[in-house]
Amino acid sequence: MAGVDYPGTYQELLSWFPDNQACIDYLASLRWPQGFSCPACGGSECWRTRAGLWMCRSCNRKTSVTAGTIFDRTRTPLSTWFAAIWFVTTQRNGVSARNLQQILGFASYETAWAWLHKIRRAMVRPDRDRLSGIVEVDEAFLGGVNHDVFGGYGDKVPVSIAVERLSGNTLGRIRLQMLERAGYNDIVEFVERCVEPGSLLRTDGHGAYLRLPALGYDHRIVALTGRNPASAATELPGVHRIASLLKRWLLGTYHLGYSPAHLPYYLDEFTFRFNRRKSRRPGMLFYRLLQQAIATDPHPLHELTTHEPDKTDFT
Ligand SMILES: [Zn+2]
Repeated sequence: MAGVDYPGTYQELLSWFPDNQACIDYLASLRWPQGFSCPACGGSECWRTRAGLWMCRSCNRKTSVTAGTIFDRTRTPLSTWFAAIWFVTTQRNGVSARNLQQILGFASYETAWAWLHKIRRAMVRPDRDRLSGIVEVDEAFLGGVNHDVFGGYGDKVPVSIAVERLSGNTLGRIRLQMLERAGYNDIVEFVERCVEPGSLLRTDGHGAYLRLPALGYDHRIVALTGRNPASAATELPGVHRIASLLKRWLLGTYHLGYSPAHLPYYLDEFTFRFNRRKSRRPGMLFYRLLQQAIATDPHPLHELTTHEPDKTDFT
């Protein structure tokens, strides 16, 4: 509930989290909603040390609430992280690295870029459920990536889209994945990872989908095979709508300037936003993302900058 479980406005954010201790206490309440639990022995009795650690009374192990999360070993005050997550989650379309750099006053663009990518890593729950019920699946081809960075595939990147169809033509949850190639195995693996067996799949006649009944899926071919936009728009309206929303969002937020190496993270961010689109209250997404952030592995900067930041990622 806004104002009780999470701040409902930016003013509340500032007053809830004036210092690091307030942030640590809040993260602890999210990580241990039923009270402290020792990661080593499961003990619930603990001392709080002066350094802000929890010391287990059974095994004496010290635990930091940020250990093993995206905040691990950060030298920046947690309140700055909280502000960054607030801006990322409360702006309807998210923020670019250039936006974040300006808002938080970072000296370097690269720092803002690395922060955004760490935050995006928290947008995908590792244990998330697979889609079920009636599910449309198709591939879309995203254009607008930097030619020079993406040699070999021209300027189009294949992306698999799966979306739940609910009653009354409304859409449920989505899953997205960039494909290395739009080969049969890639497509079948995507469906197996993202859709519960027993679901009714609606697809075009691509040969990959013909393997799905043997894997426990109910399958209907409803559209013409291949790039036939008219057929796909009529017969697979869900994936068609997701593809156009995704393209518009990438255009609006990243102005065409992203490299395919980073596209998977942008797909994660789009998925996070779309699947929680009904959480309209400011602060609700902030709360959900923090919950996921403290359950996420840390990603050191050197790991994130294997690929150069997108220099053209600005608005
Ligand atoms: Zn213990």
